[in-house]
Amino acid sequence: MKKWLIWCLTVLAMVCLIPGIALNAKAADFIYTYCFVCTQQRNCEILGYIKADSTKHRIHIKCLVCGRENSIIYGNLSYHTGGTETPTCITGKTCALCGAKYGILGHDWGAWTPNGNGTHTGSCTRCSEVKTASCTGGTATCRAKAVCEVCGGEYGEKDPNNHALVQHAAKAPTCTEKGWNAYETCSRCDHTTYAELPALNHDFVQHAAKAPTCTEKGWNAYETCSRCDYTTYAEQPALNHALVNHNAKAPTCTEIGWNAYKTCSRCDYTTYAELPALNHDLVNHDAQAPTCTEIGWNAYKTCSRCDYTTYAELPALNHDYQAVTVEPTCETDGYTVFTCSRCKDSYTADPTDKLGHQFGAWSPNGTGSQSADCLRQGCAHTGSTDCRKFTFRTAEGETLTFCPVCGQAENAVQLEMIEAATAWPLSGSLSAEDVTARTNGEYLSVAFETAGSLTRPTGRVRLALPAGLLEGKTLVRIAPDGTQTEMPFETKRGKIILTLDFVNSELPVMLFRLVPQTAAL
Ligand SMILES: [Zn+2]
Ligand SMILES: [Zn+2]
Ligand SMILES: [Zn+2]
Ligand SMILES: [Zn+2]
Ligand SMILES: [Zn+2]
Ligand SMILES: [Zn+2]
Ligand SMILES: [Zn+2]
Ligand SMILES: [Zn+2]
Repeated sequence: MKKWLIWCLTVLAMVCLIPGIALNAKAADFIYTYCFVCTQQRNCEILGYIKADSTKHRIHIKCLVCGRENSIIYGNLSYHTGGTETPTCITGKTCALCGAKYGILGHDWGAWTPNGNGTHTGSCTRCSEVKTASCTGGTATCRAKAVCEVCGGEYGEKDPNNHALVQHAAKAPTCTEKGWNAYETCSRCDHTTYAELPALNHDFVQHAAKAPTCTEKGWNAYETCSRCDYTTYAEQPALNHALVNHNAKAPTCTEIGWNAYKTCSRCDYTTYAELPALNHDLVNHDAQAPTCTEIGWNAYKTCSRCDYTTYAELPALNHDYQAVTVEPTCETDGYTVFTCSRCKDSYTADPTDKLGHQFGAWSPNGTGSQSADCLRQGCAHTGSTDCRKFTFRTAEGETLTFCPVCGQAENAVQLEMIEAATAWPLSGSLSAEDVTARTNGEYLSVAFETAGSLTRPTGRVRLALPAGLLEGKTLVRIAPDGTQTEMPFETKRGKIILTLDFVNSELPVMLFRLVPQTAAL
């Protein structure tokens, strides 16, 4: 606001100083307009008019309130007006308010004619004034001179630098194609700033060859360009696998298997897939204890698929036989009973023959038979057999008939048992313990018996008798036919020992006579 006020005061001061201002005294003419001092519409007194240009003038006013003077353009009141003159090409009317000349018609030149030398000439249609002036306007180009805007004729020289430029974008050179910087050409002439940029040529990079494999392509050695996609690369296709077929193997309980598979003879390609071992399909079996005769086993497992087993045979225990021996008796055989302590199985073995009765001395029963008690402890058997009697001729017209087992003599004294008699074989076989030697003081009979029956030695027998038996006597053998021969004997340690030859004996009994030495003499 302050600046604006200072500007207004300055303008007012300058207006007041302009010389020749016609402040025509037209007092008492007023206009109602804005006073920038009072800052509102005021009645202002018109003090005079000042030419502004060929059609207007400014109005010099003074505010009736604050007295401030000003010079303004004010509507139709600002146009030149009045005057009586007739305007011509070069003269006009005189403004009644500001005194300025106005309304001059000016020449009406009509058509201008080019003169071919850079000028044109025209004449006024109103006042016949002729005028020559330099051609003007238009623009010379590289191809054409300028055309005068007034007369339409060419004039001046072509402008070799005024091209109709066309801009061309730059193009960078590539490895194989030339390029250029941005350049201009002229659409009219052959002007150009084009400058070729040569092709760069490839920036080769060497690449090593790679042999193809079964699954990956390869290539020969090749070149590429570090700048562009130039390449001499030529792919060598993958070889594909050289497949070899392998048979399947089913897995077993304990060994892995596989399906049929392929491998490559060139690389380690394989479709092998291991099938794990099945593991046993175990079946439990109860234990069975072994017995004496049958094997057993602990609880064990088998596989339903294979022959796997944890079976372990427990051997049969075998019988635990305890032996009980039954001793033979006179009439029953002996044996041993083996009984198993576990299963009570038993059998009989080791038989021993019955002992037979151990008869003591046989004694006559008086009825042609004889008897003897068994001496074995626990046996109360009394045996009885028929007597077997022998008859010997003992002298002319005399015989002796007797049983050598029980000693019963028909016409002589009973022959009594000589307990101390013993015998043993020199040859042949003999139940020598069964010797039975009997005497009645006159005769001596010798025989062998078992269980009351006579037996017969098959060879020669030695017989021992108490020495007292033959004290003061000689021994004479009496053959069944009565032949009598002296029987030699030895005396040893209180016994007499004689040798009996049963090989050449008719009978299983021998008879001797005990002959007193005196009688023999
Ligand atoms: Zn004129
Ligand atoms: Zn011209
Ligand atoms: Zn041009
Ligand atoms: Zn390249
Ligand atoms: Zn392969
Ligand atoms: Zn199995
Ligand atoms: Zn048993
Ligand atoms: Zn008995």
